[in-house]
Amino acid sequence: MLSRRKLIKRMSSLPLLGGFMGEAFPLTSSVPAPPTRDLFKELGVRTFINAAGTLTYMTGSLMQDEVLATIQYASQEFCLLDELQDKVGEKIARLVHSEAAVVTSGAFSGMTLGLAGILTGMDLKKVEQLPHLEYTGMKSEVICQKGHDIVYNHALTNTGCKIILVETVEELEKAISERTALLHFLHIQSDKGKIMHEEWVALGKKHNIPTSIDIAADVPPVENLWKFNDMGFSFVVVSGGKAMRGPQSAGLLMGKKEIIEAARLHMPPRGFNIGRGMKVNKEEILGMYVALEKFIKQDYNMLWKGWEASIGLIENTVKSLPGITTQVTVNPLGNHTPTLKISWDTDKTKLAAKDLMEALQKGNPSIEVGGGKNGISVTAWMLKPGQDKIVATRLKEELSKLS
Ligand SMILES: *Cc1c(COP(=O)(O)O)cnc(C)c1O
Repeated sequence: MLSRRKLIKRMSSLPLLGGFMGEAFPLTSSVPAPPTRDLFKELGVRTFINAAGTLTYMTGSLMQDEVLATIQYASQEFCLLDELQDKVGEKIARLVHSEAAVVTSGAFSGMTLGLAGILTGMDLKKVEQLPHLEYTGMKSEVICQKGHDIVYNHALTNTGCKIILVETVEELEKAISERTALLHFLHIQSDKGKIMHEEWVALGKKHNIPTSIDIAADVPPVENLWKFNDMGFSFVVVSGGKAMRGPQSAGLLMGKKEIIEAARLHMPPRGFNIGRGMKVNKEEILGMYVALEKFIKQDYNMLWKGWEASIGLIENTVKSLPGITTQVTVNPLGNHTPTLKISWDTDKTKLAAKDLMEALQKGNPSIEVGGGKNGISVTAWMLKPGQDKIVATRLKEELSKLS
């Protein structure tokens, strides 16, 4: 794999044209100047080793080298935004077994746009009217299970729709009316609801109402990319900037052809719609496409073994320290990666979990881990090679202060 620096070096050693053509043709910037500024340092912004996970407030994930090279490549040419979405959408749809697909600015915008497409269809007047639904003839409610009601459902209410919460099949069937636009499902909390995936899809079909599923953080396993399309959900959304390591400002909306087509009426390059601010450009579109291809092709077993080895190394370094308990768990539904929980009796010792986290943040190098009950949690999937040893050493240093 090419490191970012090598890649930039290699690119800058390509044509020397940019240099002297620069003045006469200022737009012919075929050779970007290599970055010479350490902007994080210049601005005083802390960077850190990420042993916490794929979190938006920690800037998600690091893009794969191929994604970075693709973004660089894409930025050198103009094309028609719609033509690119058409062509990339076709390729992505084939990869994920859906009728159609479009690159969005994330799973969240995918939810908004998918629902917007269902509400308006191809009616341009309705597209302009959203998020105002009253007296428009549009439907106005989305049904969701109580256990699936999380903050991200705001993506659905952005269209003007209300969320109706239900628990049982009976309640769901009672809640269905001529106002019902969609039955929405949240995969990562499927164990917190009474109705499971297949039944949800079957209920939608029975009542002729579209069904959707949020699998934002739920790859790996890679099969989840097509499992829910195969199952018959009308649309599926996933994040591009989590485990797939595509652009952080990208995601996929996949599903029925008529929904994706209508959703695109709410997206740039068109204006007068609720999605105008959810712009993706050629860089995100091609970057997402390449990230997806690579994610599907990668040797998943090898990747998993690498994560296990790193987590094993960290666990073995700290588990024999006095007062420490360790446990490795894997969430089967989402953020599916070995996760090490390190706990201790926070009542008996002077060290609270947040003190330890602060010490790790302030150390050199700075490290972020996850918080937990009576301890912390550590993942390895966002670590660069060799950082597992650094995390293990620093944890041992700080946890030794317990006794
Ligand atoms: C991360 C996440 C989202 C938002 O995804 P973005 O790609 O950041 O827009 C939505 N739903 C769930 C469950 C998530 O974990």
